[in-house]
Amino acid sequence: MVEVKVDLADHSYTIHILADGISQVGQLLKGLPLSGKALVVTDENVCPLYADKLTGSLAAAGFHPAVIAVPPGESSKSLATADMLYTQAITLGLDRKSPIIALGGGVVGDLAGFVAATYLRGVPFIQVPTTLLAQVDSSVGGKTAVNHSLGKNLIGAFYQPGLVVIDPLALSTLPERELKAGLAEVVKYGVIADNTFFRYLNDRAGAILARDPATLAEIIGRCCKIKADVVAQDERETSLRMILNFGHTIGHAVEAVGGYSEYNHGEAVAVGMHAAALISQSLGLCSSEDVIELKQLLNRMGLPLAAPGYRPGELFSYLVRDKKVISGKINWVLMTGIGQVKISREVTEVTVRAALEQVI
Ligand code: ADP
Ligand code: ZN
Repeated sequence: MVEVKVDLADHSYTIHILADGISQVGQLLKGLPLSGKALVVTDENVCPLYADKLTGSLAAAGFHPAVIAVPPGESSKSLATADMLYTQAITLGLDRKSPIIALGGGVVGDLAGFVAATYLRGVPFIQVPTTLLAQVDSSVGGKTAVNHSLGKNLIGAFYQPGLVVIDPLALSTLPERELKAGLAEVVKYGVIADNTFFRYLNDRAGAILARDPATLAEIIGRCCKIKADVVAQDERETSLRMILNFGHTIGHAVEAVGGYSEYNHGEAVAVGMHAAALISQSLGLCSSEDVIELKQLLNRMGLPLAAPGYRPGELFSYLVRDKKVISGKINWVLMTGIGQVKISREVTEVTVRAALEQVI
């Protein structure tokens, strides 16, 4: 078992990474000041796989869980679905101490977290992420949100969980493409913070893709630790936390141009990291060998390096619409080597367009 402590200014919690952790959630909750009613939010794919295990563990610990499964996919991250969950919570009589437990990927985590943050002005929130992406990314950091018809994640709150339980065995049923999407974020952590971890990923790529549980537990723990350290230093994303957006500026544009269906988040971030590396190289911040190493690892993980057929102009127009643009300038996260990044607001349009030309 690996434990990562997340220490924030006014709140701290533990991430438990343990094989068959889903069966131990009830036990782990016993120490917290909670009432007996609990609401498990999951999706229709994850529900038949893991909900019984979770509710069994909750019941054994004296909880009375109700389960609601929403349709899988981004469309469930809506105010309409949140409203349905509020209705259920009220009808079930959930009180201020009743936990809302997210069992699923990022969609379920963001949605259930948003409901937990707002129902009765906030009730205890427990995360049991079941995709690699959610395990290494959205389960740390306290961002919750639903989408608006005019944009993704526009309605949300920072809201920290009371406990996170990560079960690497749950990844055994994850579709291949989803696993790889999570690996893009894993590679990102190596690039932004940890050269040794980057090399470890290279060495262990076979075991990772074969979903060896011990290796997965190890890499999830390392990623959570890196993210927890960054978030602890900058909870509200005013400065340092921006480094977590490495590959995401162009990645978001790739996702948007593809109508959020052609490339998933991780694939788009892989293309975005490649482009960010090319920008870094053209500014003399990193070497061509660094870029080659990144490309090789992404390749090994089965991730795309380019979005063929996309037009640079179209991608560029999405860049400036990204909500992280402050006073007209993009905060670029650039590589200064494998394991180190810096933020720059001084990248010219010509440099960006030249990099985009190389990833289409
Ligand atoms: P993300 O975490 O990538 O944001 P989603 O919440 O959209 O992802 O989940 C991606 C897909 O994987 C969904 O269709 C979801 O139902 C499915 N899924 C999540 N976890 C598992 C799992 N452990 N096994 C099988 N399918 C899963
Ligand atoms: Zn991401």
